[in-house]
Amino acid sequence: MLSEFELIDRYFNRAPHAGSSVQLGIGDDCALLEAPAGELLAVSTDMLVEGRHFSPGANPHDLGHKALAVNLSDLAAMGAQPLAFTLALALPSADPTWLQPFSESLFHLADAYGIELIGGDTTRGPLTISITVMGRVTKADAIKRSGAHAGDELWVSGRLGDARLALETLQGHRSISPELLSRACERLHRPTPRVTLGLALRGIATAAIDVSDGLYGDLSHLLSQSSLAATICADDLPLGEALASQPTDIRYAMALNGGDDYELCFSAPEDQHQDVLAAGKRSHTSVTCIGKLDLGSGINVHDRKGTIVSISNQSFDHFTENLSS
Ligand code: ADP
Ligand code: MG
Repeated sequence: MLSEFELIDRYFNRAPHAGSSVQLGIGDDCALLEAPAGELLAVSTDMLVEGRHFSPGANPHDLGHKALAVNLSDLAAMGAQPLAFTLALALPSADPTWLQPFSESLFHLADAYGIELIGGDTTRGPLTISITVMGRVTKADAIKRSGAHAGDELWVSGRLGDARLALETLQGHRSISPELLSRACERLHRPTPRVTLGLALRGIATAAIDVSDGLYGDLSHLLSQSSLAATICADDLPLGEALASQPTDIRYAMALNGGDDYELCFSAPEDQHQDVLAAGKRSHTSVTCIGKLDLGSGINVHDRKGTIVSISNQSFDHFTENLSS
């Protein structure tokens, strides 16, 4: 059986890359990180708990990716450049057949974004993965939830709803073809953090949030922090390819209230419409204008004919549990 320190050394301790801002990585009481000159540190934590965020027995290869991806998604929504992260891990046992694929896929994603693992904590306990990410952004470039203006256009990246459709299909509540399910499962288990889009939107987006609990609920946070209302055309929402095959009511419900999309929802001035499209192109990420922001509060959803679509906020909340996740 591996000891705690053998486990850390074997699976998580790697030398920082040359030229990184890490002065001292794993192995001391603290890591030492060079503070970005004239910039701010953007810091965010997200935790994945077995039985709550993923099923017992979930593939460790997927978990290594997702645990870091959901954190990078928060840096993306702030327009921050990823720098470093810490990993707090509770494990029922030091099982190499779990640790090997978990750490491999964690570092695979870390390397794709040039982000270094600089420390953490390891303990025995029910499987829980908590990551804290750090990024750099200038004060002027940070894209807060509170920066939107009346008249701004509202945008979303990528496609919505397939992660939720995959989850409900795996739970036996829906049925889709095996090919569509396997691609929808990619969205659920291996989301792509929109880091390059977030960086490309600096100086263009006025506010942003990443869609983790469902577009409706996450947009509500952006609106309340910006003191604005939104009008959305449900037929303009970019649907995941599996969701596009579903009946209208399911399409609307999952695009608006499905969780785990990890797309960016953001606002930008109307006269920067072309700049947003160019930022999408530059970052190889599709972007879709889904509506507008106005004075007032709340979200008005209509269809292409102008008929009101009645949708309540059913985004996931861990303590009210209005949807199972
Ligand atoms: P302390 O007792 O001071 O909290 P530990 O003995 O727990 O330190 O950890 C030893 C070193 O290993 C520290 O530098 C810590 O940041 C690092 N570390 C512990 N667990 C992990 C992990 N899961 N991933 C990366 N680094 C880790
Ligand atoms: Mg410790």
